[in-house]
Order: sequence, then structure tokens, then C-alpha cells
Amino acid sequence: MRHDHLITSKQLSRGDIETVLDRAAEIDADPSAVADRHAGALLGLLFFEPSTRTKMSFETAMKRLGGDVVDMGSVESSSVKKGETLADTVRVIEGYADALVLRHPKQGSATMASEFVDVPLVNAGDGAGHHPSQTLLDLYTIRENAGLEDLTIGIMGDLKYGRTVHSLAAALTNFDARQHFISPESLRLPREVVYDLHQQGGTTGVREHESLAEVLPSLDVLYVTRIQRERFPDENEYQKVAGEYQIDPETLEAASDDLTIMHPLPRVDEIAPEIDETDYAAYFEQAHNGVPVRMALLDLLLSDDLGIGGDGDE
Ligand code: ASP
Repeated sequence: MRHDHLITSKQLSRGDIETVLDRAAEIDADPSAVADRHAGALLGLLFFEPSTRTKMSFETAMKRLGGDVVDMGSVESSSVKKGETLADTVRVIEGYADALVLRHPKQGSATMASEFVDVPLVNAGDGAGHHPSQTLLDLYTIRENAGLEDLTIGIMGDLKYGRTVHSLAAALTNFDARQHFISPESLRLPREVVYDLHQQGGTTGVREHESLAEVLPSLDVLYVTRIQRERFPDENEYQKVAGEYQIDPETLEAASDDLTIMHPLPRVDEIAPEIDETDYAAYFEQAHNGVPVRMALLDLLLSDDLGIGGDGDE
């Protein structure tokens, strides 16, 4: 039987998102209730790029559901080093595991890999493409802190290469959020992403800005991202924009007292450490939410209870 794959957040309807977030809230309230739910099940971890939070929270999630993981390990120590194709690697590992989580530097790789496997495959980041499980934990954190109704969000930083941005922006079109995108000119959202956001509709406008000051007072949530240095073809181009957007207590003087600041992490220098202890900071809570949200996602995918649509084409 062919299971669902989660490749992009564009596959997720509002109903799908609510199903995952509600299940995550139930699990968060009583994790012991699901401690044996997937006893014996194995999750295959295939990470071709560095990861801390995504990999460890998927591993924690699977273990907290009673299952375990099999990990391909680093590219250096795997057969990838011998020239094995991604299609062959996933076909082999699906024979060992009940679901797969894949991170790969190449955009579109998760779509391609999913065509070769029948067990559920979750895209844990494909280059500058998508990162839908991150989006689900982002939405969970927004729902807990600011609510998803009548939301005004600013998304700031590297909007060109930031896959968490592309995923979150697409998912938010289900909620009629007002989305403000703040970046240097050279790191604006790719035009095809803007086009898609308009096509997906539901959004009360996609507004682009170079200055945070223009929109800060109106924001419920400010989602800050790191400049994705590893994706720049030219280091000089990175140096031109490095450190351009930094949030410190002074920046926030014009913010609403209820502002929630999020960041998918890791941060470099985008958010001053003095912000960490303020009520604005939700980024560590956001990272912790990765566990109940990924438990919910794995539970639904392994039980075939999600029924997400689309083939995940980007
Ligand atoms: N951890 C996130 C990702 O894998 C964000 C980042 O790396 O900046 O996309």
C-alpha cells in the first residue's frame, strides 16, 4: 500500500493543519497516553545536510511513541560516499523502516525520492525548497502565542533561500494572515513563491519591505531567519548582506507589548541575547514544540489518518 508523503506545506489544507495541531496539543497534555502507540516501529533518518533540532526532535518523537530510529549517519560514513544515488539509498532504507525522514541540499530531492518508496516520507528540508514539519511546529507556536485568526506576521531575513519561510508563507494562506516580508532587495522572496502565494489565495496580500520599522508596530508575530550562508554561490554576496537585520532591545521600542518573536534556529547574530529573557522570545519554546508536533505527525502518518493531498510538487 502506498502511504502519504509530506513534501511541501502546499499539500496541507487548513483541516490537515488543524488535525495535526490538535493531535499535538493532546499529546503535549498527556504524552504518556501514547508512550506505546507505535511500539516496534522504526523511523529511517536520512540527513545529507547538518541538523540538530529536526533530527533530534524526530528521534525523540519516535522514541516517545514507543518506536525507534535507524540512522544513515553522515554522508561521509555512508554508501553515498561510494556514489550511491538517492533513489537507491531510499529504496534500500525503506526496507528497514516504517517511515523515512529526508534532508537533502538539493531542491526537489524529496519529491523525487518519494516516487521510489511506499512508506511515508517526510521532507525535512530540500535545499531552499520546503520544510513542512518545521511549518507545523511554527504554526503550533503561533497558535499558542498569538492565535492563527486575524494574524499580522512579519517574516524577516533571508527570504530567498530560507526554506522555512517558503513553507510557512504557503501554509499561512489557509488562515487569511496578513504577511509582511522584510529583507534586503537581494534576498527577496523568489518571484515564483510570490506568484504561488497569490495563486493560493486566501492571503490578504503579500507585502514586501526593506525596513522593519515600517511594519513593526502592527505585528503580532515577527519570524526572524538566518542568512543562509551555505546557499550563496558567491561568499562576497553573503558578506554584503551579513548582519544587516538585527533585533535588539532598541529595535523593539516600537513593537507591541504582545509581540511574539520566533526563529527556526540556529541564530547567528539576528537576535541579541538580551531578548532571550523577555516575554517576546518564543524561539526556544518553538524548538521544544518540535517534539509533540512531530509525534502527532508521525502518529497520523503511520496510522494513515492524515490523508494529505497532492504529490508535493514544488
Ligand atoms: N533549521 C532551519 C532549516 O533547516 C533553519 C536554518 O537552518 O536557518 O532550514
